[in-house]
Amino acid sequence: MLVDVVPVGDLSAKVKRQASTALRSVYDCDVTIHDSQPVPTGAHDEKRDQYRAEEFIELAGRVGSGEKNIAITPKDLFYRRRNYVFGLAYLDGNGSVISTYRLQTSSDGGFSNRSAVEIFSDRVRKEVVHEIGHTLGLEHCDNKRCVMNFSPTVREVDVKEENLCGSCQREVL
Ligand SMILES: [Zn+2]
Ligand SMILES: [Zn+2]
Repeated sequence: MLVDVVPVGDLSAKVKRQASTALRSVYDCDVTIHDSQPVPTGAHDEKRDQYRAEEFIELAGRVGSGEKNIAITPKDLFYRRRNYVFGLAYLDGNGSVISTYRLQTSSDGGFSNRSAVEIFSDRVRKEVVHEIGHTLGLEHCDNKRCVMNFSPTVREVDVKEENLCGSCQREVL
């Protein structure tokens, strides 16, 4: 499988590298980094001052050259009635997205004494693995350690691991 990472907006080289390493290690796939894309016109909701996640998924699916494609953006995303989302993907789709915007909050819920930079990198890794999991047909998993656990706040993101649990693994690997 080839996964194409599509940076949308101004994204650091480190984030691209973290995303690519995590995907390779969990899915044993090839990963390419696409040329940076401008934020899709029309994605911005002026009233909320946030961006519609669906538009980034559409963009990733359209320009990405992988069987699966993931947009990564520093913009703050929302989806329907949810105040914000860290990421979004459709089950079995070929496009997906994550936002780094809300992953930067320094608090890690007191789990570790890791630096803010490391915590942020871990979150990016987990979120890309999570969204690509959805594109492979995985739904949310009840195992709190599994990367497919639903994590509406960074606290849940920090609790889970970067890997798929045994039963999720058996479904896709
Ligand atoms: Zn999810
Ligand atoms: Zn699982």
